[in-house]
Amino acid sequence: MAGNGERWPDRAEWAGKIFSAGWRESEGGTRQVIEPASGQVLAEVGVASPADVAQAGARAARAAGDWAAAVPSDRAEILLRASSVLREHRDTFRDWIVRESAGVPAKGDYEIIAALAQLTHAVGLASQPRGEVLNPQAPGGTSLAWRVPLGVVGVINPWNAPLLFAMRALAPALALGNAVLLKPDPLTPVSGGVLVARLFEDAGLPDGVLHVLPGGAETGRAVAADPHVAMVSFTGSIEAGRAVARVAGEGLKRVSLELGGKNSLVVLEDADVAAAALAGAVSTFGYQGQACVAAGRHLVHADVVEAYTDALVGHARSMRVGDPRVEGVTVGPVISARQADRIERIVDESVAGGARVRTGGRREGLFYPPTVLDHIDRAMPVFTEEIFGPVAPVLPFHSDAEAVELANDTAYGLTAAVHSGSVPRATAVAGQLRTGMVHINDVSAKDAANAPFGGLGISGNGSRIGGTASLEEFTQWRWMTAPGPV
Ligand code: NAD
Repeated sequence: MAGNGERWPDRAEWAGKIFSAGWRESEGGTRQVIEPASGQVLAEVGVASPADVAQAGARAARAAGDWAAAVPSDRAEILLRASSVLREHRDTFRDWIVRESAGVPAKGDYEIIAALAQLTHAVGLASQPRGEVLNPQAPGGTSLAWRVPLGVVGVINPWNAPLLFAMRALAPALALGNAVLLKPDPLTPVSGGVLVARLFEDAGLPDGVLHVLPGGAETGRAVAADPHVAMVSFTGSIEAGRAVARVAGEGLKRVSLELGGKNSLVVLEDADVAAAALAGAVSTFGYQGQACVAAGRHLVHADVVEAYTDALVGHARSMRVGDPRVEGVTVGPVISARQADRIERIVDESVAGGARVRTGGRREGLFYPPTVLDHIDRAMPVFTEEIFGPVAPVLPFHSDAEAVELANDTAYGLTAAVHSGSVPRATAVAGQLRTGMVHINDVSAKDAANAPFGGLGISGNGSRIGGTASLEEFTQWRWMTAPGPV
């Protein structure tokens, strides 16, 4: 439980500290964690200064060698144990996710299930074959190529899926023999950091292999710049992603960027409109729309646009806004005043430009209600910008070609959904969308541990995380020859 008197994760051990070969005081001081729904102080965590990061980097580099040399089944065993610890303490994880990230309990459960799937998948990844026997250049010789760990991986994460994003990078990176510096977002350092460290401590991960370094941009910059860090796995905004890429580029490091999205949910005229509207509501209003994979445009054939919009408005109005810990609430507050101001600006400017509010559109503090807008034109910020809030702009189209053109009218390219009574027709439309992911007759907001997650254009740098793609991301080739057998 997130309150006092808890037995696990044992606040006395971690409060005000960072995790770097044990819990320790940091030079960067401490920082409070505030619950968005109540303004209450939930905890105090340590903040890692650049000097703390440097020490962690050196410790991680020392630990990385033995960890890389461990037999894969030993690494897999620790990941298996980590999943048991997560199952055992799932109520604690859920409570912290609900309180820190202001999601309803079902969002917490989703993250836990997805994090468990990442761990399970990584268990198998540890023992994947990852080498090639090549033709030698001289008779009797040996020529081998195989994937080796990178060494120390830096992971920098946002606040919206703190546990899932930590685990989707950590589980494969550790399974494949890397040490990790994890920098959670300052808004969610417990569910995205402290609990993860406690989990791996209990699972028996050797000291120094994982470091949890809470802090803001300065800490993130230090992680990306640290000379021991060979690769940075970043999830977050485009601005911060660019900054991380610049620092990583200076150090000639690999960098994986998972950034934002302006994702379309396309509804053809032969679609099941009720099912499409439900998928649309889940894709835009779920977790207050604060997901890179949320639907940011609802493109609906003119023949069914009224029926679709009415159904979407019905879903929006049926959702209860409030403290996510209160039973029956389905929409919590957005994470911060900064995000609420941003949503308000995008909606207000669009309404001033002629958009019509069908429902919602007026915030109370951090609480922004599910909102449906129509009469949208392409110059409006609600069409051009990632909203990261529970706002659904609905636009009609008259042909499949026009739907494709509208959906592709963005520099982003993360995900999309296409709804049609004909799967081949939906697949044909999906094939023309310039996105890294696409889903037929489903929500836009999906992820799976065995799938390569990521986007095109300004949604990332073509990197993928998940499935066998993680094997490439978190390892590199090594070639060895010998004049005889080895
Ligand atoms: P943000 O980019 O400000 O913060 C993300 C992380 O980067 C935090 O840990 C932050 O402390 C760190 N950071 C910020 N500036 C940094 C710098 N200069 N150097 C190093 N680290 C730095 O993100 P935000 O605005 O809080 O999150 C919302 C954004 O993240 C949205 O745009 C959303 O689309 C994107 N996002 C993408 C995905 C994805 O998987 N593609 C997932 C979630 C969020």
